[in-house]
Amino acid sequence: MATTKKTKKAQTPLDQRETFVSIQKNFADSSDMVEEKLRTLYELQKADVAIDKILSRRGLLPEEVSTLEAEVEVINGKIARLTELNSGLTLSINENKQKAVESEEAAARYRAQLNAISNSREYDSIEKEIENLDLEKQIADKFVGEAKMKIAENKATIEELNQKKEVRAEDLRIKKEELDNIAKTTAEEEKVLTAKRNALAEKLDERTMSAYERIRSSVHNHLAVVSVFNENACGGCFNTIIPQRLIDIASMKKLVICEHCGRIIVSPQMD
Ligand SMILES: [Zn+2]
Repeated sequence: MATTKKTKKAQTPLDQRETFVSIQKNFADSSDMVEEKLRTLYELQKADVAIDKILSRRGLLPEEVSTLEAEVEVINGKIARLTELNSGLTLSINENKQKAVESEEAAARYRAQLNAISNSREYDSIEKEIENLDLEKQIADKFVGEAKMKIAENKATIEELNQKKEVRAEDLRIKKEELDNIAKTTAEEEKVLTAKRNALAEKLDERTMSAYERIRSSVHNHLAVVSVFNENACGGCFNTIIPQRLIDIASMKKLVICEHCGRIIVSPQMD
């Protein structure tokens, strides 16, 4: 019983308002008009797909551009931070070099005094002073050595970041150019397609258009009219089409609706 229910549901998923099923009986006044109407629907579908393509192209690019811009900004921030650190370190290196020279000179002056001193207490005190100055010089020298290493490390990181930035910036340049081109060309392209689309839509009655729009918006690939795929499958849901329906489709004199997905199926000859 559950299977029957399921099948029923699948057959009439869009029955609430206008569907291709509900317009099937009065789709055309004569069978000759069916083919023309089907062709119009199929062309309309093509124009809508082309318009969708333009919109999606435009829709993605601005996002990609802003992502790349944000990435470049982050890289620039890192480079600025490391450059600032290196300037600070260079300044401290100079200060410490100066300090080392001063300590060395002061120690030399004390050493010269030592020969003239006979008082052992004073001698010890000066020796202590020299020891301190030597230590100060050692500390300053050590700082200079370490800071130079840190600067080299930062420079290597900056170099890496610059390479990364170059790649991103080139990407950004290309995407921006693409977006500019799309903005320039798609406006005209979209105008032409929309005019074509509207002219086709005008040829169709309201109920047919309503059914078309309804199915288009309810299926994920936005195709309301599909052709036969691989000889015997619906080009929308890829379920098998029974032989009698295949004959009807090939005749182009009947409105054939896929019993599984509700799409109109047309002959591949219309491609
Ligand atoms: Zn189908």
